[in-house]
Amino acid sequence: MLRRWSGHRPEKTSMNCTDLLVRLIAVPSVNPEEPDPREWTGEARMAELMEALLRERGFEVAREEDAPGRPNVIARSGPRGDGPSLLIEAHMDTVSVVNMKIPPFEARVADGRIYGRGACDVKGSLAALLAALDRDLVARFREAGRQLVVVCACGEEKGNLGARQLTERGLGADQALILEPTDLRIIHRHKGALWCRVRLEGRSGHGSAPARGVSAIRALAELIPLVEARVLQWGEGGADPDLSGPSVNFGRVEGGISVNIIPDRAELDLDIRLTPELSPARVRDDLAGELQELVERASITGFSIETIQEIEPLATPRDTGLVRSLTRALESEGLPARSGGVDWCSDAPWFARTCGETVVFGPGSIRQAHTEDEFIEAAELEKGGRVLRRFLEQGCEPATPSGGTP
Ligand SMILES: [Zn+2]
Repeated sequence: MLRRWSGHRPEKTSMNCTDLLVRLIAVPSVNPEEPDPREWTGEARMAELMEALLRERGFEVAREEDAPGRPNVIARSGPRGDGPSLLIEAHMDTVSVVNMKIPPFEARVADGRIYGRGACDVKGSLAALLAALDRDLVARFREAGRQLVVVCACGEEKGNLGARQLTERGLGADQALILEPTDLRIIHRHKGALWCRVRLEGRSGHGSAPARGVSAIRALAELIPLVEARVLQWGEGGADPDLSGPSVNFGRVEGGISVNIIPDRAELDLDIRLTPELSPARVRDDLAGELQELVERASITGFSIETIQEIEPLATPRDTGLVRSLTRALESEGLPARSGGVDWCSDAPWFARTCGETVVFGPGSIRQAHTEDEFIEAAELEKGGRVLRRFLEQGCEPATPSGGTP
């Protein structure tokens, strides 16, 4: 398959990625959980545009809206059923534009860069995909007996809303490519996260006699180094060449009643990032163990741990067909094929539940995502478009009886 495909070298076409990206940036789609003015929030306008652009390319397009104003777009081509299938997903929402130092929705093209909210995360990847997917390619993919599903999801930036909704309904495929800015690295592993709220209970009393009460705030100060020591312990022995070790951020704290009252309650929000081997259950158990010790030492009188959110890690083996296909696509464009892991999270773990192989890939750098002057390099964007085109070309080979996919 590789040999046959390598012999077919399509002409390099002008991908038009920049023009497409300018159109996508012009349509505000800020996540509605952000504090932005309502006229900029929600994915409905982006869904309308994506629906039209995907229909133009020969897809059958459906819009599913589980929550009002929060649509997902599902575009399908090719036979449904048992044939080999490829799913490509990108999220439509962006983070807030409140602190931006550039016009967020009037894309500026300057110095070889395209500036605007979403340029990098992740409208750039959507533009590259749309540029790669012309009618002819979609038809050839279909004629090869393969199913191609393009998914534009809502709500990735605040808890993977669309990915959850769609995969809970069983949307899946043999292979899933999740578009995010990875500097064109093939990401087959990433961390998960456990966000939790720890509540400490003490006993109040007069501020002039702290020894008569139990200060929950003082206990917080005891707890923090204990948690940090645990995090180091979790990282021991399992050094992961693709990822840094587990980490913790103490993101929010609240407690006490008044300056002259011994505080009988305090709470702390923890953002714990987990390597794929470290389970949230173990983390919760270890935290409970530390808190129980504080009770036994009389530093607190009681405690609770509430899970705010659990985000699964991604752990696709490197040796999979999808990683090999992307490697070939990169190499055929003369680009280095780098693969590995990242510390941030994505929609990928949700699709990994319903898809045989799932990886994350796309043009642009996570360093420019969510920034006050978000941009993507135009040359990188074009490269992304060409690599996706090469990758999809592989899927136009006739399906093998064994059900092999690109
Ligand atoms: Zn993103």
